[in-house]
Amino acid sequence: MKKGNLLYEGKAKKVFETDDPNILIVDYTDNATALNGLKKGTIVGKGAINNRMTNHMMRLLEQKGVPTHYVEELSDRETAVKRVSIVPLEVIIRNIAAGSFSKRYGVEEGTPLKISTIEFSYKDDALGDPLINDYHALALGLCTEEELNTIKKYAFAVNDMMKEYLLNLGIILVDFKLEVGRLADGTIVLADEISPDTCRFWDKDTMQKLDKDRFRRDMGGAEDAYQEVMKRLMGE
Ligand code: UDP
Repeated sequence: MKKGNLLYEGKAKKVFETDDPNILIVDYTDNATALNGLKKGTIVGKGAINNRMTNHMMRLLEQKGVPTHYVEELSDRETAVKRVSIVPLEVIIRNIAAGSFSKRYGVEEGTPLKISTIEFSYKDDALGDPLINDYHALALGLCTEEELNTIKKYAFAVNDMMKEYLLNLGIILVDFKLEVGRLADGTIVLADEISPDTCRFWDKDTMQKLDKDRFRRDMGGAEDAYQEVMKRLMGE
């Protein structure tokens, strides 16, 4: 597979075309942003960790019946994925109150939720990714009702599998964000990444944060936290 032109440069990843029109190559960088791109920095080693962790989780999810865009890991930082058109929704699942949920509803961070919740943001940087509900998503024509049902089913399935898998490694899955895309034939698949950039991970015993909040909140130790997650996941 030959790496072609740069198709798109995001905040933390670059996407390249290949000689196969249905396959793209994602290249993970160490760039980190927060506050809708206002805060910029680097987490050394993050690109390789996020690439490898995402692929590890996607392979696992595929095995358990959740379709993903994953094709093949090409290097430490590069992965071949199926070309999709991204559904412009950020799908967020929460098990424990944190971040914007805590702020919005005045719930102390760390409060377990009575049920796992799902929420959607309209993926639009200029608007600051506003929170929307199911009806808004349909009214705006972001997806169909059938697609929305599939997205919800996959998101909760991902939560169930990841929660259990990570707890065995001593990690509490607090919340996470997913993105989904459509293949050329319309099939909904999991896309983007699953990493400490997009999930909140807390150590089960110490409740220490092992994710991007260390960067967002200037806590220090982001590099060590990402490496710790990697070590528990892949034994290195
Ligand atoms: N998240 C993300 N990208 C975003 C916003 C949120 O990956 O643009 C993830 C974030 O890492 C966390 C979850 O979604 O695991 C919920 O984030 P929240 O809404 O609490 O936002 P934040 O507090 O990060 O602004």
